[in-house]
Amino acid sequence: MSAGPRSQELYREACRLMPAGVNSPVRAFHSVGGEPIFHASAAGCRITDVDGRSYIDYVGSWGPLILGHAHPAVVEAVASAAARGLSFGAPCEAEIELARLLAETVDHLEMVRFVSSGTEAVMSAVRLARGVTGRDDVLKFSGCYHGHADHLLVSAGSGLATFGRPSSAGVPAAFAGHTLVLPLDDDTALERLFAERGDRLAAVLMEGIPANAGLLVQRQGYLRRLRELCTEHGVLLILDEVITGFRLGPGGAAGLYGITPDLATYGKIIGGGLPVGAYGGSRRLMEQLAPLGPVYQAGTLSGNPVAMAAGAATLHELLDDGGSAWERLERTAGRLQQGLGAAFHDAGLPFSIARAGSILWLSLQEGPPPRRFEDIDDDAAERYAALHSALLDEGVYLAPSAYEVMFVSTVHDEADIDETVAAFGRALARVGGEMRP
Ligand SMILES: *Cc1c(COP(=O)(O)O)cnc(C)c1O
Repeated sequence: MSAGPRSQELYREACRLMPAGVNSPVRAFHSVGGEPIFHASAAGCRITDVDGRSYIDYVGSWGPLILGHAHPAVVEAVASAAARGLSFGAPCEAEIELARLLAETVDHLEMVRFVSSGTEAVMSAVRLARGVTGRDDVLKFSGCYHGHADHLLVSAGSGLATFGRPSSAGVPAAFAGHTLVLPLDDDTALERLFAERGDRLAAVLMEGIPANAGLLVQRQGYLRRLRELCTEHGVLLILDEVITGFRLGPGGAAGLYGITPDLATYGKIIGGGLPVGAYGGSRRLMEQLAPLGPVYQAGTLSGNPVAMAAGAATLHELLDDGGSAWERLERTAGRLQQGLGAAFHDAGLPFSIARAGSILWLSLQEGPPPRRFEDIDDDAAERYAALHSALLDEGVYLAPSAYEVMFVSTVHDEADIDETVAAFGRALARVGGEMRP
């Protein structure tokens, strides 16, 4: 489908003023070959574009909106905080409330520091790890995204266990040279890397469940071994829970897998739709931050009362009913997974659906969902464009990239799911032919 006339008009104007008309690349629809849709409003699980078309939304602002759009409790908390002042640049009580919610819910968080994005949280946690260990190298895994800081915009070089290459222009090779990249789910490569270079690593960065290039669910044994190796070699394990924190349950991926990271990073849900990130860990580590310790990090709008209020209201909604929010998400997302599976099966098209709680990844390739980025079929990703466009016609809004996941919120109900599945059925009947390998 093409975007509506008003959307097209806005897009032309936006392109004159902002590169590709957007402020974050994937929004430009380049990987599904269309034009971005401009939205005017959203409530619950529905988003409405500037041409008055409404969609059931599975993007959820890329993860933060676990309660759906414009949740009344969050909107009310934001409005009431805003009326009392937008930013003080000085301590406020709301920071304590959100910090307390994090520290009381997540065992390995004794202390946290708030920043304004997930990128900042990870960047700062890595700096802290380097400052504490006195080492420079970090290890990450291909297919994992940790924000756009220079030393993390790195992809695997040739061969296993090599130093990374910049994956963006403008990243000095010397920065990338301190980042090692391994494929996920490869025990042998992991053991070898630690044997050869473990004592020079400051930190290992791992996504709670890698959810930024498909959904690459890892084995518990693999993550536990990673934890052991870090401990044996004096390496800090940084679990990047920017997507998974409070998405998979109160304890995030750490709770799910039973692993204790040294540092953890948060963003998305803990800001309830406003710009918030956080990193945290033990008192011993966190007290190495300025002004108590030698590791510097600061932020003009960090911990501002409006963003803190949005985050705290969101976490209260999730936590205050004894975990039933996650049970509901599990049921709703399970229903969606089953329904989509049946729709693809009926259409006779290859597919696989990976799911972790309310995160789903639909891939147009056969077989069990991949665990490694290298196992994602590029051709399957190309076939996604036809489906994406047909679903827009049917009133379902999926991320404009085959590598992005779907997020179910607490306000998607059974009727919304069934409506979505029916829309998939119609879309597949119409464009299934274009989606055959
Ligand atoms: C989204 C994300 C980030 C970056 O967060 P921003 O707020 O976009 O800077 C980092 N790590 C993970 C795992 C993410 O999903």
